[in-house]
Amino acid sequence: MSTYNRILVAVDLSPEARIVITRASELAQHYGAALQLIHVVEPLIAMDDYELVPALPLEIEKTLEQRANTFLASLLSDMGMGDTEVVVGIGAPKREILGYAKEHDIDLIVIGAHGRHGIATLLGSTANAVLHGTHCDVMCVRVGN
Ligand code: AMP
Repeated sequence: MSTYNRILVAVDLSPEARIVITRASELAQHYGAALQLIHVVEPLIAMDDYELVPALPLEIEKTLEQRANTFLASLLSDMGMGDTEVVVGIGAPKREILGYAKEHDIDLIVIGAHGRHGIATLLGSTANAVLHGTHCDVMCVRVGN
């Protein structure tokens, strides 16, 4: 029977993150796997007439990174999962999630079927991109509708 050793759960900071984390935690317990959580801060590149303008100044990225860490630490503590390893990256979520999974021998990625980007579609844009770019299994957790 197949098993999982290293599970990565990818979350945005929406209320649905709790549902995705809960499912990942259940799977980690079931398989006796290590659980890591990743959140990616997106540098908000503004577009003006198809021209890219510089991304956020470094200090703002750092502030967003710190806020994400604080938010996730509080959420995990509230869920009784305060010892979960948290990784906060900066960049494009799909690329950071896939890169981290490959570098760290992740064998299962748990992700929400949709979040902020894909509320109108069956699979959110991040879930879809991860599903099609990954080397490992992916579980999409249905959240919301
Ligand atoms: P979305 O692409 O916004 O529909 O989000 C689908 C799912 O991708 C969410 O439920 C999360 O599990 C994951 N996700 C979205 N944005 C991020 C992010 N910035 N960092 C990590 N995971 C994310």
